[in-house]
Amino acid sequence: MIEKARELDAADPLSAFRARFHVPDGVIYLDGNSLGCLPKATPAAMAHAVEREWGDGLIRSWNASELGAGWFEMGSRVGARIAPLIGAQPQEVIATDTVSTNLFKLISAALAMQAQTGTTRRKVILSEPGNFPTDIYMIQGLESQGLATRRLAPREHLMAELDDDVALLMLTHAHYKTGELFDMDALTKAAHDAGALVLWDLSHSTGALPVDLNGVNADFAVGCGYKYLCGGPGAPAFAFVAQRHHGDLKQPLTGWFGHARPFAFLDDYEAAPGIEQLQCGTSPILGLTALEVGVDLIAEIGVERLHQKSRALSEFFLECVLSNGLDLDLVSPRDSSERGSQLSFRHDNAYAICQALIARGVIGDFRDPDILRLGFAPAYLRFEDMADAARHLAEVFERSEWQRPEFAARSAVT
Ligand SMILES: *Cc1c(COP(=O)(O)O)cnc(C)c1O
Repeated sequence: MIEKARELDAADPLSAFRARFHVPDGVIYLDGNSLGCLPKATPAAMAHAVEREWGDGLIRSWNASELGAGWFEMGSRVGARIAPLIGAQPQEVIATDTVSTNLFKLISAALAMQAQTGTTRRKVILSEPGNFPTDIYMIQGLESQGLATRRLAPREHLMAELDDDVALLMLTHAHYKTGELFDMDALTKAAHDAGALVLWDLSHSTGALPVDLNGVNADFAVGCGYKYLCGGPGAPAFAFVAQRHHGDLKQPLTGWFGHARPFAFLDDYEAAPGIEQLQCGTSPILGLTALEVGVDLIAEIGVERLHQKSRALSEFFLECVLSNGLDLDLVSPRDSSERGSQLSFRHDNAYAICQALIARGVIGDFRDPDILRLGFAPAYLRFEDMADAARHLAEVFERSEWQRPEFAARSAVT
């Protein structure tokens, strides 16, 4: 397979972009869906932000001027750059806070909108069991305050559960564990027909596959900065609110950075008219600096091309797995058009197998209780990596390497 892999790499229009990332020697990185690789331009951008903008510019850097870096607009600026990757207009996206916090703000905003417009008060937030934990926990937090009611239904029953009580349908487009995709268009339509609003979590989609929020008429979305956008550990997340809702938008974290005029220092809160209302406290400038580099690089490569390559990589990986005589239990959809940029396999010893692979430099991850998850970040992976990773996986089985006692001990982060 290695010969075929080299031919595919030679014909790959994205092959040159690998050199724009730091991929450590001896590592085949199949976890870009958890923490994306470091773009080579990031350290210099960070050094500039620290030494020049902070060190020399000091508070002058909040404004955009000769000495200023325009920090004050940075959340909106980075949001505007994310917008084309998700089918949004520039003024509909802001980079701020974490996915979890943004979920809280947007779920609350959806409930407030429903309370304004509905004749009956809708309080149900509908999602699926097994959605990413933080998404479900954030509903529970609002439930514990008496503000929301959580309803979880398996994906095949979601449409039927869209009744008059549902305020918001809240789903993750590409499932974190299996990679399975939702039909955003069909579900958004069904929710709207039932009088519900829709919030899409794009954490496992943004930067890996095309998303068209305005094309499907979505209301809200959130997404992650440190996965496919390569913004670095704990990078700011982003939030989207459709333009048509900006006038009715009310979120409860009414901090001064969401104020229409923060530097008027007024006693009364007056929400900024646009997406800036979703900010709460002071923007994390250093985090945004790193995120901006990642977003620009992913945008330069182009999300359509990234998606094509991601599909080709995972299909080739499966071909290599077969040619190595491995018979694995694939839990991701077999058709690459129905899954995100990952392949997940179920195995009773998934944890130890994952550890044995990591010892060989093939970094994937384990998701409780029995999933080996391999992510294919298309910006920096080669077809050769697919052939090598499949061979390592075969050797882990052939040599029963995963049975070694050191691969059974669990760390806090898997
Ligand atoms: C990674 C991820 C998050 C991350 O949330 P944070 O609050 O930014 O840590 C949220 N939702 C999904 C679906 C994710 O995959």
